[in-house]
Amino acid sequence: MAYDKPIPPKGLHTQPFWDGAKEGKLMLPRCTSCNRVHWYPRLICPFCHATEIEWIEASGEGRIHTFAVQHRAFGGWAKEVPYVTAYIDLAEGDRMLTVLRGVDAERPETIEIGGLVRVEFDEADEDTHIPFWRVAEAS
Ligand SMILES: [Zn+2]
Repeated sequence: MAYDKPIPPKGLHTQPFWDGAKEGKLMLPRCTSCNRVHWYPRLICPFCHATEIEWIEASGEGRIHTFAVQHRAFGGWAKEVPYVTAYIDLAEGDRMLTVLRGVDAERPETIEIGGLVRVEFDEADEDTHIPFWRVAEAS
């Protein structure tokens, strides 16, 4: 089925992210001056304002920082309600907003703050693979 959700716009400063996503890799921008990872991608480090940014391949692991159950949505997301959005504490630093998978939106009490999640990618179109996060299976 065709991907029917909004597709984020691309820019030159985000191309390394999209190139990595096509290969199933989570690429994150890191400032070479203060060494901190930031999300979303910017031309200037939000922590120290340096302009020297490199890209690193992240582990693809994170932890649930917080979440909310969405009961109303528009466009392609409308048929998905209820669903869970969450902020993920990335293992490398900073946070990413996502639609969280592998959880029961009807039973939010079962969602664990701090729970381990892993990234996965949906192919929206040939050039756009969008990251989502899924609760990791207990091993
Ligand atoms: Zn910095």
